[in-house]
Amino acid sequence: MTRRCRKRGRSAACRKWKVERKRRLARYRLARKCRSRRHRSSRACRKLRAQVRRQQRARRICGVGRGRARRRDTVHRMARRFRISPETFRRYNKLSKRTRRLRRGRWYVVYKSPFHNVRLAGGVELAPVAGVLKVQRPHRAWGRPLMVESLRTAAVAVQRAAALQPHLIFGDLSKKGGGCLPPHKSHRGGMDVDVGYYHLGGRQRAWLDHASPRDLDADRTWTFLSALLRPRLLQYAFIDYSLQPALYAAARRAGETPASLREVFQYPRPKSQSHSTIIRHLQGHADHMHLRFRCPTPSCTLTAADKQTMLQAAGVRRGGPDERRQRFGRRHARAARLSATRRTRPLRGHW
Ligand SMILES: [Zn+2]
Repeated sequence: MTRRCRKRGRSAACRKWKVERKRRLARYRLARKCRSRRHRSSRACRKLRAQVRRQQRARRICGVGRGRARRRDTVHRMARRFRISPETFRRYNKLSKRTRRLRRGRWYVVYKSPFHNVRLAGGVELAPVAGVLKVQRPHRAWGRPLMVESLRTAAVAVQRAAALQPHLIFGDLSKKGGGCLPPHKSHRGGMDVDVGYYHLGGRQRAWLDHASPRDLDADRTWTFLSALLRPRLLQYAFIDYSLQPALYAAARRAGETPASLREVFQYPRPKSQSHSTIIRHLQGHADHMHLRFRCPTPSCTLTAADKQTMLQAAGVRRGGPDERRQRFGRRHARAARLSATRRTRPLRGHW
């Protein structure tokens, strides 16, 4: 390519290559210029530094991080420097238990994302539904069929239960085929989604918007969440602690008891405690909630019984009793069976 394009390449590929080469050269020159103290704080140099930082962060999030061994470095010394355990360091670099000394100047793996190599096979796209749900970036709205169908069903059910409300906004799911999606650490295998909150006031929003306890539509947000929680579809949900009291109150209004919510909410426990509940605090989740799905069945699909349970959780009447009053069950199958015959008794248990 290089030789062919240098001579008299006029094809589209060559033109593209030339533009790229020009861009790289300019960047290289700027980087050299920025090393001098005189140009260091110029606007172009600051911009370049920010760009490099962003790229480094993305590379670290996506793949593996490496560190160079210094003179007389050992496994323990290097592990301490990069804040990992010696066992992890050995595992990353496939070193035997007996290895202690490291070779000076050699690069070793010091970081690996926990979601390394996670991909999405057989993913489907979450299509927007007019008046119900909106997707911010369609090319980042791919997920496993179970998750996509559940999200759509829950959003439609909420809208049906209380119509004429602003639509729900969805942030990133995964990209087609899965894989790393910066700036997210997860969102790789089609089982993670960023969902906006329902806001009070009826104003349509185009993007994920910051929610406060005052303008959060806690009832509708809880209805949406409970539709996913009842068939045990969620592994965890990151929700800002400041919004949890309002959601908790909404859950109580919907007929839940403190006992049935103990395994679900981090609230009323303090912010720093109890991270094993489904709803838990994580910084940066005041404008969206991050939901992580799990497979309730080995086939990892949304069954008809699950779908029915979700609709019931949202209070959509299907000729049965007022399902909104039903409590969460230990097993969704049992709840579905009971609801077919009579009003479900409150069931306790783990989620
Ligand atoms: Zn997320």
